[in-house]
Amino acid sequence: MLTRRSLVKAGLAGAATLPSLARAESGPSARRSLRIAHLTDIHVQPELESAKGLAACFAHVQSLPERGEAAVDLIVTGGDTIMDCMEAGRDRTQTQWDLWKKVKADACGLEVKSVVGNHDVWGWTKSKAGTMGDEHLYGKKWACEQFGRALPYESFNRGGWHVVLLDSVFPHEDGYIGKIDDAQWDWLQRDLEAVPAATPVVIVSHIPILSVNPLATAKPGGAGTDGKPAFSVSGGMVHVDHQRFQELFAKHPNVKTCLSGHLHIVERIEFGGVSYLCNGAVSASWWKGKHRGTDFGYAVVDLHDDGTVESRYVPYGWTART
Ligand SMILES: [Zn+2]
Repeated sequence: MLTRRSLVKAGLAGAATLPSLARAESGPSARRSLRIAHLTDIHVQPELESAKGLAACFAHVQSLPERGEAAVDLIVTGGDTIMDCMEAGRDRTQTQWDLWKKVKADACGLEVKSVVGNHDVWGWTKSKAGTMGDEHLYGKKWACEQFGRALPYESFNRGGWHVVLLDSVFPHEDGYIGKIDDAQWDWLQRDLEAVPAATPVVIVSHIPILSVNPLATAKPGGAGTDGKPAFSVSGGMVHVDHQRFQELFAKHPNVKTCLSGHLHIVERIEFGGVSYLCNGAVSASWWKGKHRGTDFGYAVVDLHDDGTVESRYVPYGWTART
């Protein structure tokens, strides 16, 4: 556990007590079953003192009890753990994963579960990474090895909730788009069918299954099917298969919330009985400052026994180093 001394070291002592949680969505008898700290888009790298920043973030998460708050049960990292290895060579990739491992070992005493992000996939941009595609750790294998599991997706039960970690990054030309493939669809359908109807489900993906943000920032480009000006949303920003998810969720009304990252903004959408939460970025704008007003931060996500969810974005006090 953290001491006041370690907090002082991390520059966090004396920070104001966090505001109390609003309980807008939950009923009067709802009780918190599970508290997740959602740390997404960490992008750890040797530059910009990001390792110190990540350690400060871990310290902040673990200091919540000292601030009079309930402890976090589980940390979920939401993908883009390291700065980038899609375009990086072997040595640079190794350096970044070693840094992640060291900071986690040194600064984090809580259980961590991890989602794979596009920047965690090694070598898909072969011309820049110098990969052939037949390397032992090519693609998602390196991240899976780091996260200690065979597949880039998994599910488990915790605190009365069923937690699904999806792999939402699939190849497109020499880059990626947001979706899941047929094998993962089969697995997800079977997985949700096996969950009792009374058990609420939280799904975590790197790329948002649904987001209004790409639309909010899009310019009209071309015409829609009715001939009117249309907005285009890149399949690299949100899941291209989101309608299939909506059909699946309609069959499983116990799917209550979907958490994501990737866009480095904070957003909450209530749609079709599901709360879609995009939860900012530990790295803000890749450690260089706020990203469109979103500070270096993480989300405290409280999952209640009645299936409601509360989420609060918590800046952890980091500022960009030059
Ligand atoms: Zn991403």
